[in-house]
Amino acid sequence: MSRPVALVTGASAGLGEEFARQLARRGHDLVLVARDQSRLEGLAKELRESCGASAEVLPADLTVGAQLAAVETRARDVDVLVNNAGYGTFGNFHELDLDTEVREVELNVVALMRLTHAAAAAMAERGRGGILNVSSLAGFQPGPLNATYSATKAFVTSFTEAVHEELKGRGVSVCALLPGFTHTEFQERANVPANDVPGFMWQNPPEVVRAGLDGLAKNKAVIVPGTVNRVLGTLSNMAPHAVTRRAGGAVLKRAQQ
Ligand code: NAP
Repeated sequence: MSRPVALVTGASAGLGEEFARQLARRGHDLVLVARDQSRLEGLAKELRESCGASAEVLPADLTVGAQLAAVETRARDVDVLVNNAGYGTFGNFHELDLDTEVREVELNVVALMRLTHAAAAAMAERGRGGILNVSSLAGFQPGPLNATYSATKAFVTSFTEAVHEELKGRGVSVCALLPGFTHTEFQERANVPANDVPGFMWQNPPEVVRAGLDGLAKNKAVIVPGTVNRVLGTLSNMAPHAVTRRAGGAVLKRAQQ
């Protein structure tokens, strides 16, 4: 029997790398997407040797139209899509490089939307499949010093919940995973001063990914991994934005000093 195929974006590091490992252990073959081809090839070799999974390396910068189009084509033919690639930026919006902010929207929002469309159309036709979109707790409130990132993740959560509802009963699961602080390369790449974030607020990729894949198996619209994150998420969701944006801004401004 052939194994189901999962395509993971951002598979060269952090959560994406862990998604690939856990999906391989759960019996999937993999299509690995990111820009760093040599890291993807290293992971593909590891997956073949450790789990007997076949792993195809598909290097792509998802902010480049032609490269994204190639991944869209491949996404039409998979059983599971994990839209995980994403990055953040930190600082006052007017002082940040605008092109980097625009690319952040292209990656976190546009690429995720295009790949969801490609996969969802084919999955709806086949009457089966699963799409897991990696969002963030940051999407629950406006994020001063994180304005673009928080806004992209607000989009991802809202968009994913809506498509989840549209495809309910069609055999296609569509879920949003909302991690909090997780030990990956994310904070360093985003230049976020996270050293003062207390230890109890952090998670490691294996537990976040396990929660995501278990939630996808149950077709949960929104998956928040970890008790601390669920409490924080509930509070952020209940409080008015006038409160959460000030609180979030005060914490990050203090961290910036
Ligand atoms: P990470 O360790 O920095 O990994 C990011 C991945 O995205 C890398 O594989 C990177 O690979 C890929 N990527 C970046 N730009 C890309 C592009 N233009 N085209 C294709 N791939 C690209 O970060 P992570 O924490 O695993 O992030 C995964 C997801 O989790 C993101 O959507 C992030 O927003 C979300 N998240 C993270 C946290 C956290 O605290 N870590 C919290 C909440 C949500 P290449 O550089 O090889 O392209």
